Amino acid sequence: MVIVMAPEATNSDIEALVSLVGAAGGEAFVSRGVRRTVIGLIGDLTQFSALNLRGMNGVADVMRVSTPYKLVSRENHPDRSSVSVGGVLIGPDTVTLIAGPCAVETPEQTLDAAVMAKAAGASLLRGGAYKPRTSPYAFQGLGEAGLRILDEVRAETGLPIVTEVVDAHDVDLVASYADMLQVGTRNMQNFALLQAVGSAGKPVMLKRGMNATIEEWLMAAEYIAQRGNLDIVLCERGIRTFETATRNTLDVSAVPVAQRLSHLPVIIDPSHSGGRRDLVLPLTRSAIAVGADGVIIDVHPHPETALCDGPQALVDGDLRELARIMRQFPPLMGRTATPTPEPTPAAV
Ligand code: PEP
Ligand code: MN
Repeated sequence: MVIVMAPEATNSDIEALVSLVGAAGGEAFVSRGVRRTVIGLIGDLTQFSALNLRGMNGVADVMRVSTPYKLVSRENHPDRSSVSVGGVLIGPDTVTLIAGPCAVETPEQTLDAAVMAKAAGASLLRGGAYKPRTSPYAFQGLGEAGLRILDEVRAETGLPIVTEVVDAHDVDLVASYADMLQVGTRNMQNFALLQAVGSAGKPVMLKRGMNATIEEWLMAAEYIAQRGNLDIVLCERGIRTFETATRNTLDVSAVPVAQRLSHLPVIIDPSHSGGRRDLVLPLTRSAIAVGADGVIIDVHPHPETALCDGPQALVDGDLRELARIMRQFPPLMGRTATPTPEPTPAAV
């Protein structure tokens, strides 16, 4: 059982609840978030049914949830949520395009990629300043200098920024620049990081661990939600299978399954799934067809010299087709893409 406190709840309201639950033989775990405090109750549900929890001061909601994840579960939140990122909505009636370079390399490369992304219809800019690389010898990202570049490119293009944070110690710094914090596949079960981003007061994009079940993914989201942050977007980015022809295997079924189990928006990353440029457009079409709430795509002005993931980055010609897909496919699914520009020769 989970109690969600109203924003105006006082410390003594919370203490009163904790002692009432304790007196009834249960245990109460208080998570104080930036926006709200939630209290998880552990114990026999019948112990609590006699208590008038809903009538207690400061209580906004009391939820009985049978799934192991509570706050992100759809059981007690039948309507699908939308998450606002710098004023851009993700889910459930839109298909949001997020695009940008895998990594921030230089101001020019980032700006060029952002202009390409915007021309293709992207309403959010992606770009990593902190890169979680498999090899310690690979480019690790520019760190704070990369965040400053993103800040300048946001000012120039108006695109809000989605950027990854890989270390709990960097969360406040990254959050001071980002419009949305990205937690990558390798960190999906870094619980200290999940708790830190849950307390950062910024929306979070949580990528699915490459070896994680959907339930583990939703439990990871619960760590963020438990800190009072329900502005979470789930991102399916391909899982490890026996197949070697693609970098990862895109699990399209994860989209409707996660959307049925959770009220959170679910998007797809067709770039990191396939790891190949030629697969990005077909996988984007499949993402829209399966009901994804958005896609996040790598673009680069010069993929051949990219410091990270060049082989999957889209270039100009592909972007024209991506823009066409974003104009034509979402309406077939009863959705709008945001925004949907007409191609102009100068722009794409
Ligand atoms: C990324 O989006 O830059 C990234 C590293 O993705 P993933 O965590 O899915 O590998
Ligand atoms: Mn990448």
